[in-house]
Amino acid sequence: MTRLWFETAYLADGWARHVTLDVTDGRITAITPDTDSSDIAERHAIALPGLPNLHSHAFQRAFAGNTEVRGPSSDSFWTWREAMYRAVDRIDPSDVEAIAAQVYVEMLEAGFTRVGEFHYLHHDGDGRPYADIGELSHAIAAAAGETGIALTLLPVFYAHGGFGAQEPTHGQRRFINDINSFGRLIESARQGLESLPDAVLGIAPHSLRAATVEEIAAILPLTDGPIHIHVAEQTKEVDDCLSWSGRRPVEYLLDNAPVDARWCLIHATHMTATETLAMARSGAVAGLCPITEANLGDGIFPAPDFVAAGGRYGVGSDSNVLINAAEELRLLEYSQRLAHRARNVLAMNEGRSTGETLFGSALKGGAQALQGAAGLAVGAPADIVSLDAGHPSIGGRSGAAILDGFIFAAARPAIDCVWRRGEKLVEGGHHHARESVAARFRATLAKISA
Ligand code: ZN
Repeated sequence: MTRLWFETAYLADGWARHVTLDVTDGRITAITPDTDSSDIAERHAIALPGLPNLHSHAFQRAFAGNTEVRGPSSDSFWTWREAMYRAVDRIDPSDVEAIAAQVYVEMLEAGFTRVGEFHYLHHDGDGRPYADIGELSHAIAAAAGETGIALTLLPVFYAHGGFGAQEPTHGQRRFINDINSFGRLIESARQGLESLPDAVLGIAPHSLRAATVEEIAAILPLTDGPIHIHVAEQTKEVDDCLSWSGRRPVEYLLDNAPVDARWCLIHATHMTATETLAMARSGAVAGLCPITEANLGDGIFPAPDFVAAGGRYGVGSDSNVLINAAEELRLLEYSQRLAHRARNVLAMNEGRSTGETLFGSALKGGAQALQGAAGLAVGAPADIVSLDAGHPSIGGRSGAAILDGFIFAAARPAIDCVWRRGEKLVEGGHHHARESVAARFRATLAKISA
């Protein structure tokens, strides 16, 4: 058994002081507030639960910062996507593992302890399945195992290049499956997760552009895990869906698929008031990726109306252009402030802390979307983040004000240690494998950009 002690801790039922946490076999087995620390070696200042990162495409980290030069015409999500397709061409299985390991080290150092990997790079450079069709899923699982992050693997079903079952393009050849090959892929992915602690297998029809509702219905029974889909990220996508079906993407999805609390709708940026209300009532989680959505010029999610209607949300780092849990939450709130010319928008009610509301909502929404328990509670995995009490934006604060300082006022990282299943992976802000993983990542970048 491991025993940890914290001066203050943000528990599932609120803030407590002088908390002893007992950890056995990776789980929290006892939580005791108001305890004496004198016989406990591991004493720390502030404990937060690790945050779920509900949406990642790990391989995209390989070209983060490389698409920020203006092209000949107006740049958009769609010109970025062409650059992404080109970058994908030369990545092999060992590269996928090296890039994902770098991404997962950065996530752990940022306070994310579970990742939802929306994994759509499946085949070799010619678009042919590897001898084991799940080879690249196994590379993702290996990176999670090496770095210690909890994994909800979401193998992506991708069959078409646009609405109405259009032929996929050459740039999409490494993503494409039919229902039969996807069934084999899911089976291989399932075997690859067997030895990974706390792993969850879900499924991800990529989007209504890439999967028909008939195909979505056919693949849903392949797992009982979470179901994730990209929807309504871009106005062009809304226009294309309208001209194809006469309906908007979220409207079409809610009318034609059994969307409920098992689902996570990624982005859902462009919704009418009616769609916003209907999505909130469905119980599905909104998977918001504020840094990537800003980087790609997507738009701003209708958060106040969605939350007022009972909608749940979590955050993801999506393209992984920048990996920072606090900054995702800060940008989520700041985009709303800019749009509504108001302050403390997502706190919703008088007297509530914005930081604590954002953090608590992303914790609950992320746990639901990834089907992985989160929060400091007996029975939950001991996935814990400690903050540096010497940080000028953290020290001297208590309760919710700690989270307001962490999210809104800490420019340099305030995270000290991170434990996964009670094992300390990050200390002094550094993951124990940071140097070796970064060296491999640099070698991979040099190889694929040569
Ligand atoms: Zn995405």
